[in-house]
Amino acid sequence: MRQGIALVISAPSGAGKTTLIRRLAAEFPGLGYSVSCTTRAPREGEVDGRDYIFLSRQAFEERRAAGDFAEWAEVHGNLYGTPLAPVREMLAQGRDILFDIDVQGAAQLKLNLEGTCFIFILPPSMTELERRLRLRGQDDEAAIERRLANARRELCEAPWYDALVVNDDLDAAYDRLRAAYVAATLAPARNPRLVGDLLATP
Ligand code: 5GP
Repeated sequence: MRQGIALVISAPSGAGKTTLIRRLAAEFPGLGYSVSCTTRAPREGEVDGRDYIFLSRQAFEERRAAGDFAEWAEVHGNLYGTPLAPVREMLAQGRDILFDIDVQGAAQLKLNLEGTCFIFILPPSMTELERRLRLRGQDDEAAIERRLANARRELCEAPWYDALVVNDDLDAAYDRLRAAYVAATLAPARNPRLVGDLLATP
């Protein structure tokens, strides 16, 4: 059986990560999703247990103290964490799992979860990122400034990721993301018995 891949995708907000992730999940229905815990309030349309596990700060801290999380981080004033048990279970079943987590969490998984594939989605320019954030109409001026400053900090971490996907055009960016995922599935470490089994045939 092939070993499952942990696929971590990070991006500054406004880079188009959510759209790209949805497309990947639609094309590869077998790809599991790591549902994070968070202390932030649900947004319109979000479902508890599907998009996030929504917890009070106290419940989150209890789970963190119990060692339930593979990684955790504070992002924009809220706590986020990846429950470890479902990740272990899916990987052991040979399933690939997608993680939508920030750079702090990704750095922790780099230390804790061997063989993870790290993909960073970048905007084509800072001007375009700012334009997209304004277009969303979600944030006031101060929040946009905060997100842009945060984006610059996050982008400094991009060089240690395994693949950089520039989202200049959605279709082209999706092709790159897909290629990075498929390439990761072909690594010898993901297919440890392939060569031995082949050599054992007549
Ligand atoms: P949002 O609140 O907009 O859904 O997510 C805000 C940020 O938190 C995004 O960058 C997202 O990738 C990150 N995030 C979501 N879940 C986790 C998690 O479990 N761990 C970490 N470290 N970051 C997360």
